[in-house]
Amino acid sequence: MDIPVSPDSLIQSSFIALAPEVRVQVAIDAMAEKRASCVIAVEDGKPVGILTERDVVRLTTQSLFQVTSTLAETMTTGLVVLNLSETHDTFALTQQFSKHRIRHLPVVDAQGEIVGIVTPHSLRRSLKPEYLLRHMRVTEVLQPDVIHGFPGNSVWELSAQMTQHRVSCVVILDPESHLPVGIVTERDIVKFHKLGLDVKTVSAQEIMSSPLSTVAPLDSLWEVHERMMALRVRRLVVVHASGELAGLVTQTQMLKVLDPVETYRIMAQMQVLIDRQTQELNRLNQELQLNNQTLTQLSAVDELTQVANRRKLNDVLREQWERLAQHRQPLSVLMCDVDYFKAYNDTYGHLAGDKCLVRIAQALLSVTWQSSDLVARYGGEEFLVLLPNADERAAEKVAQKIQAQVASLQLVHDGSPVADYLTLSIGVVSVVPDRQRSPEVVLNIADQLLYQAKQQGRNNYILKLLVSSSDSEATNPILLS
Ligand code: GH3
Ligand code: MG
Ligand code: MG
Repeated sequence: MDIPVSPDSLIQSSFIALAPEVRVQVAIDAMAEKRASCVIAVEDGKPVGILTERDVVRLTTQSLFQVTSTLAETMTTGLVVLNLSETHDTFALTQQFSKHRIRHLPVVDAQGEIVGIVTPHSLRRSLKPEYLLRHMRVTEVLQPDVIHGFPGNSVWELSAQMTQHRVSCVVILDPESHLPVGIVTERDIVKFHKLGLDVKTVSAQEIMSSPLSTVAPLDSLWEVHERMMALRVRRLVVVHASGELAGLVTQTQMLKVLDPVETYRIMAQMQVLIDRQTQELNRLNQELQLNNQTLTQLSAVDELTQVANRRKLNDVLREQWERLAQHRQPLSVLMCDVDYFKAYNDTYGHLAGDKCLVRIAQALLSVTWQSSDLVARYGGEEFLVLLPNADERAAEKVAQKIQAQVASLQLVHDGSPVADYLTLSIGVVSVVPDRQRSPEVVLNIADQLLYQAKQQGRNNYILKLLVSSSDSEATNPILLS
């Protein structure tokens, strides 16, 4: 992966260079004043030692620390330096930082003279990692183990914590709620020294940065980067939506994102995550499809009899009406109602009544044969049979078959005055649909015909052929039984 680097911003040419014999307090004051993270001891143009903020914190806890000490006495010698020619290799640079656990690399020219320093900060600034950072979240570099203290802790206690755990900051928690309220960094300790205050009596409360500027675990690293630049800080406290401490995001951690090994690890992690999410998505999709099928079925099927329900009937009727009108083909509708069914329930009970309805529905299904035929439960003990492409002769045959089929079930009905067994009355309408008429017309007429069949004795059917648009009333029906 090619990561663009801008060399001008990589090598920080303005840094604090002091002679090794200056007093350490001078070095600390200079760091505080310039907000610098280190002082380089330079002799004859060559770097010979370094004093960093971390060193100042360490010194704070050592009783040996005296304002009269010189930089030479306190600085770290045996510097890891970088040749100017090596600065193009970004990945090698990031590895130097993590290998030596350092944060400053002096850069020297061919003569060994210092030309500037490279820090994780300048490296991060010189990279153009937007594309990487925009796609990564705080959680991916989050340091969950954070050293924390309380507002009442002394500066000495905080410095001891930082030194012991080798960390560059302590997050200050509210003693009651344990929510983060501030942060004390190495820089604050350096500033503190400039003021010449007592390390044992001054408390965190007085020197901590507060209120805290925080980020959320799901913020992108790019947002974090922008915020760090704007606030001129090197770390941000991460809090959950509840306000509870989630961890820290540091510049060093963010830089690791650009380390090749780390990048591959993260990419592999992302791939696993994507695979898992894809699988889960596929599973959910399948479940959804099944649910949709079940729902569609549920919304189309009558629960008791398992034939189509009224909603399905209306849909099919509308579709067929349109289609048959276009092809000038007939449609027949049979409205069937069980005779004296109330009496049946009263005699044999509602459950027995239910069983009869199921048997009758099956009988109706058994007499239809075309795939476009539809049997639907229209109401309590009323069924509707829709026969597309069937004229009145075909419809009449079906009506007769239905009655024969129901008779053959021999569902004993002692309470019926018309037969020993359960019977049906049927209103039959045949029509060639046309778009001037609404399909509901046939339902109304079938209902009127059924009523007439009931009036005229039950266990029979009345058939009517509708011929013209104006012929919408059940006049001159033919009673057949
Ligand atoms: P008619 O010959 O005039 O149709 O007389 P009927 O008794 O069948 O008609 P009515 O409309 O007076 O009563 C219909 C009965 O159908 C009343 C109700 O108890 C019964 N019924 C409706 N739905 C169901 C059902 O889902 N299960 C059972 N067991 N009975 C039902
Ligand atoms: Mg009835
Ligand atoms: Mg009825």
